[in-house]
Amino acid sequence: MLSWDKLSHLSREELTQLQNAKLRNFISRHLYPFSPYYRRLFDEHKIKPRYIKSIEDLRIIPFTRKDDFVSTEESPQKFRDFILQPDERLIKKYWGKSKLLKLAFIKAIKGKEGLKKTLEKEYRPIFLTATTGTTNQPISFLYSAYDIENLYISGYRLLEVFGTKEDVRAVNLFPYAPHLAFWQTVFAGLAHNEFVLSTGGGKTISTQASIDLILKVKPNLIIGVPGYLYHLTRTAKDMAADFSFIRKIVLGASAVPLGFKEKLAGLLRGMGAGELSIIGTYGFTEAKCAWGECPTAIDASSGYHTYPDKEIFEVIDPHTGEVKGEGEDGELVYTSIDARGSVVVRYRTGDLVKGGITYAQCPYCKCTVPRISSQIYRAHNIKSLQLSKVKGTLVNLNTFTQLLEAERAIEEWQIEIRKKDNDPFEVDELVIYLSIASGIEPEGLKEKLKYKIQSATEVTPNEIIILTHKEMLEKVEMEVSHKVKRIVDKRPTN
Ligand SMILES: [Zn+2]
Repeated sequence: MLSWDKLSHLSREELTQLQNAKLRNFISRHLYPFSPYYRRLFDEHKIKPRYIKSIEDLRIIPFTRKDDFVSTEESPQKFRDFILQPDERLIKKYWGKSKLLKLAFIKAIKGKEGLKKTLEKEYRPIFLTATTGTTNQPISFLYSAYDIENLYISGYRLLEVFGTKEDVRAVNLFPYAPHLAFWQTVFAGLAHNEFVLSTGGGKTISTQASIDLILKVKPNLIIGVPGYLYHLTRTAKDMAADFSFIRKIVLGASAVPLGFKEKLAGLLRGMGAGELSIIGTYGFTEAKCAWGECPTAIDASSGYHTYPDKEIFEVIDPHTGEVKGEGEDGELVYTSIDARGSVVVRYRTGDLVKGGITYAQCPYCKCTVPRISSQIYRAHNIKSLQLSKVKGTLVNLNTFTQLLEAERAIEEWQIEIRKKDNDPFEVDELVIYLSIASGIEPEGLKEKLKYKIQSATEVTPNEIIILTHKEMLEKVEMEVSHKVKRIVDKRPTN
């Protein structure tokens, strides 16, 4: 395997060649032979593995959606069909002569037991992370030792992309759980040989205890969920804590709204922080890794630097499924080309990206790997609301998020969608709860917000309710929830 330094500076042509070769090998030697789900899908659509020669050929493979692996009552173990499951018969049937020869060689040297162990190391699931399941039940994605090796590799690369020149001393505030963000951070520290203290987040160690630890360790890097990091920093500021040792803040496990970085940087500057980078990351359970931005000025963003030897990203029109060109908006579609354990191909992430993917050299770190624009929105935040009896309206709550995050007078917020008078046959109502900074006049702020929201979304919130900071922290479940609850849909599901 190429070193990250070499890989991240290949020409576009070299990268395409590499991806095509890895894709062909992955589909014909691992995916089709050993994935029950994809072998069935290929057979149903009369797709032969040899048809997939290059990135463009991916288009003949139907998309995979989250629903395809969410268990139902009839098939409670659907996710198992996505795990690569080789056996002797399949290996003999699908592996080429040279690969079989290599196996025979291992058997000759290590014996039958040794060969079994080698194959188990590549394929046997030994670890898992799961989706947080805010809307659905949690879904488990399994890792073999081969995938753990990949988790080390992506961890190492993340710290390279973050541009850490001096020794890293990090505090990891992600909640201790079988979630990718927590483990990716732990493995990043191990892979790059850096000090990382994982507190386990607000549920394991209180915010106060985490602040005490930070003041003791004096980390130059802190990593955590944006909402929680903001809360912790604000709490520390109220204690007049000195955070002048912080150089880098890394945000993960949740989208970074526009304007958020500036707001957090403002807080930190008031606590003595000097030269500061705030870096976003992007990742999801199904990819078993995360990608990062490289350091830029606070108001700029480099996009997420991907790993072209591990995955292929496409951007599609979410309505027609048509593949979009470089830099065009659309939904991100992910294909693994180097995974074992649970594997997905042409997986629709449900994440909409404004500005798509670029293949141009990064203007900041000069890497040439494909970069995903940092403006990612969750498609499930676009809700259909019945605001009048006449017709439903599609409302993009991501716009609300941006507006509320960018407003410096707002400390915490939550959007609630409910039925008028709690009557399931009534129209929908949109209510915003806020806590505000001291010295801000509430009525003036409410009017200003109503106007801003209406001009950006053409929707007027039914009510804006101002609560105390403590009440808001409880409402968004700051200390107990992995992801701060910003959008709550209280309508009955039918
Ligand atoms: Zn860069």
